[in-house]
Amino acid sequence: MPKKGPPVRQPTPAATHLLDAASADAYRSAMAQATELVASRLTTVDRPYSGASLEQLTRLVDAVDLDRPVGTVEAALAEAAEIYVDHAVWFHEPHYLAHLNCPVAVPAVAADALASAINTSVDTWDQSTSGTLVERRLVRWTCERIGFGATADGVFTSGGTQSNLQGLLLAREDCRDRLPVELGRLRVLATANSHFSVTKAARLLGLSTDAVREVAVDASGRMSPEALAAELEAVRAAGDVVMAVVATAGTTDRGVLDPIAEVADVTTAAGVWLHVDAAYGCGLLVSPTRRHWLDGIERASSVTVDFHKSFFQPVASSALLVRDGADLRHVTYHADYLNPRQAVEPNQVDKSLQTTRRFDALKLWLTLRVMGAETIGRHVDTVIDLAAEAASLVTADPDLELLCPPRLSTVLFRYRPAGVTVAEADRLNPLIRSRLFASGRAMVAGTTVDGHAWLKLTLLNPATTPAHLREVLDLLVDHGRTLGGPAPAEQDVLELVGDAG
Ligand SMILES: *Cc1c(COP(=O)(O)O)cnc(C)c1O
Repeated sequence: MPKKGPPVRQPTPAATHLLDAASADAYRSAMAQATELVASRLTTVDRPYSGASLEQLTRLVDAVDLDRPVGTVEAALAEAAEIYVDHAVWFHEPHYLAHLNCPVAVPAVAADALASAINTSVDTWDQSTSGTLVERRLVRWTCERIGFGATADGVFTSGGTQSNLQGLLLAREDCRDRLPVELGRLRVLATANSHFSVTKAARLLGLSTDAVREVAVDASGRMSPEALAAELEAVRAAGDVVMAVVATAGTTDRGVLDPIAEVADVTTAAGVWLHVDAAYGCGLLVSPTRRHWLDGIERASSVTVDFHKSFFQPVASSALLVRDGADLRHVTYHADYLNPRQAVEPNQVDKSLQTTRRFDALKLWLTLRVMGAETIGRHVDTVIDLAAEAASLVTADPDLELLCPPRLSTVLFRYRPAGVTVAEADRLNPLIRSRLFASGRAMVAGTTVDGHAWLKLTLLNPATTPAHLREVLDLLVDHGRTLGGPAPAEQDVLELVGDAG
């Protein structure tokens, strides 16, 4: 309910507050203030998080009366600084080592400002003009990096989740074009380490709850091609149909790369759609030294890439690429008011699950024009090297235990000094992680492997150094020692559980 209060005077910088000729100066000033707000924090922030509690932040957000505008960008930004900017999680800060969030490239941020202000929608030609052409060039560029041929195509999406959904939708339609089969009989094969969006997509696509079948992995967590062949056979023997095999190029937890070429041998022989989820591993496409880790990706039917994971792009920037562009027809629907059948100009809406869609491609365009692909690739190499450094530091530390050698840029480990049982380590490690989060000084992620608690470093920031890693590991060990003393009082445990939210 709007609160009654004294009438608020509406200042009129440009009477409507809408971006137009009259507000060009107000726009300049608003952007300068917003830029200054971020720039000033960049130079002063020395930890990834303020450490504010959920209760504190809830109070700040709820105290704002949305029905009583403050009237000026200056005042609203000051308020937003207190509520949001001062308590944001800073992914560029070198002690932020938690999830798949990268620091963003300056040219990409500038492009984002351009795209927001001009507000191009990359659906029809008459809403996007060269925006459509720019996106198409970047789709072609990415397809060339993948090694797809001349018939390849694709489209930018909102993220890996949507790219995977679209890839599997095309696979489903392709399968049912060739073989009229009930949805309930369709199966998707992937390893247990594949992203949960694969299962989500299967449900959205109307498949049965048990449609996603787990393919066994080898000792290092990679899909076993032999197990894949056996599973394909088993599905067939049961009278069901494999609609797609999903190989992951960089699993979210361990950064494992499924053996794409060997998997492609199996899917090619079986005539089954291969979707490669390279949401995380796509940075290897531009790596000067490790491109071959993706060998075989050119044989996929569809590929997911997340530029916002390993191309230093702001959220959102993702794409789905297909070896045969004709497959995109499965998402083409016509509306007389938008994209009539007889339209001759190019459009992207015929290829997308979305209609109105941000011009996210412009960020990658500016990034490539300023930095070039090789600089991005060198950053990717740097963070992979850094993961190896982190693993050595963990191995050398008697209080820490490494789960397995890193593959891409994640490192799984736990606090477990001599004499600490696995059960005790399972209790301590999540607490250590929430203590660290609550301190704001560094951030790591947590996960579970075979029912046991582990900590995870996700390294995506080339500015993080081994010295930063050492600091974070020392902080973790300090928390471990404090927590490992006498069992904490019940109240303390409750508090920590609250913090973990
Ligand atoms: C992050 C991730 C996704 C989901 O991508 P979003 O951009 O978060 O939607 C899919 N697959 C893998 C392997 C990922 O790491």
